[in-house]
Amino acid sequence: MNMLEAMTLRPCPTCRTPTSWEGNPFKPFCSERCQTRDLGAWSSESYRIPEKPQEEDGEGWSDEGEEG
Ligand SMILES: [Zn+2]
Repeated sequence: MNMLEAMTLRPCPTCRTPTSWEGNPFKPFCSERCQTRDLGAWSSESYRIPEKPQEEDGEGWSDEGEEG
């Protein structure tokens, strides 16, 4: 088990490919392609932060496990 390698390898935000940040001009991306793609997605409003559905937010009905 190589922990050092696991620490230096980060998943590319675009394609999830484990990529090294060491000497990587496109970090955190794996390549220029992914970097450009991500930037393009941002500007094209296609990239959105995944939001969790408001189901259990304690609004309306209260579930078990009251903290107080
Ligand atoms: Zn990538």
